[in-house]
Amino acid sequence: MAKLRVLYERLTSCCGCQLSLLNCEEELTALAEGVELVAFPMASSRPDDGRALDVVLIEGSVSAPEEIRRLMVLRRRATWLVAVGACALSGGINALGSVDRGTLCTRVYGEQGSCLEVFPPQPLRRFVTLDLQVPGCPPEGGELLGVLGALLRGGLPALPDFAVCMECRLRENLCLLQERRLPCLGPVTRAGCQARCPSLGVACEGCRGWAAEANRGEAFRLLIDLGLGEGEIRRRMTRFAGGDHETVMP
Ligand code: SF4
Ligand code: SF4
Repeated sequence: MAKLRVLYERLTSCCGCQLSLLNCEEELTALAEGVELVAFPMASSRPDDGRALDVVLIEGSVSAPEEIRRLMVLRRRATWLVAVGACALSGGINALGSVDRGTLCTRVYGEQGSCLEVFPPQPLRRFVTLDLQVPGCPPEGGELLGVLGALLRGGLPALPDFAVCMECRLRENLCLLQERRLPCLGPVTRAGCQARCPSLGVACEGCRGWAAEANRGEAFRLLIDLGLGEGEIRRRMTRFAGGDHETVMP
C-alpha cells in the first residue's frame, strides 16, 4: 500500500489539536508505516517539499490575509482537505470577544501590534471547499487516527452527527441535566467524544459543535428552567460557535 503524503498546517490556533494527535503515542509507530509526514509544525522540522499532497490537516481559524493565501495554496495541492478542531470549523474560542482586533493586538503586543494585518477569526469553509471536518476543542486523537486510517484504505471515516446524550445512554451515565440539574449541552452537541465530560460528572460545554437536528430552542428552555439567565445561556451555547449568536434560540 502506497504511503499517504500528509501535511499538517496550523493557522491561528493554540496547537492543542496537533497535541491531540501526538498524544496517541501507542499508535504513532503504526501510523508512520502508512503515512509520509511532509510537514507537521510540532512534530518535525522537515521543510515542506512543495509537491502534491494526499491529505492536508489544518487546525486554527483564518485571521490574516497571509493565512488566506496559505489556505488557497494548500487547497490546490491537496486531494483531501481536512479541517481539524473547533477553530477551523467555526472560528472557535479564537472568535470570542467583542473588542476589535486592532485594539486587541495593541493591548497584547504594544505599539508593534497596531501594524499587524488581522481580521476577526473565520472558519475555513468561508474560503475553500472542505472534504472533511473533524470537530472538537481539541478533537479526539482516536478520531484523527480514524480519518487517516480510513483515507489510507481508500474509504471514508464515520464521523457521528448524533448528540452526546446518545453516548451517555450507552455508558449508562446519570443525566446531569435532569438528575443533577447541571447546565449540560449534551442534548445539542455532536457526539464522538464518548461523552467524555458527563462521564466524569462534568456538564458538556459543547466543544464539538451542534449535533444534526439539534433542538436548540428546547435546550434553551431547559436551561432557563434551571434558573440560568438568557445572556449566560447565549454565552454557553456560542462559546465554540465562533460567536454565531444567530443560531441560538430564542
Ligand atoms: S480547536 Fe481548541 S485545541 Fe484546537 S487549536 Fe482551536 S482552541 Fe486549540
Ligand atoms: S462532553 Fe461535550 S465538552 Fe466534553 S469533550 Fe464531549 S463535546 Fe466536548
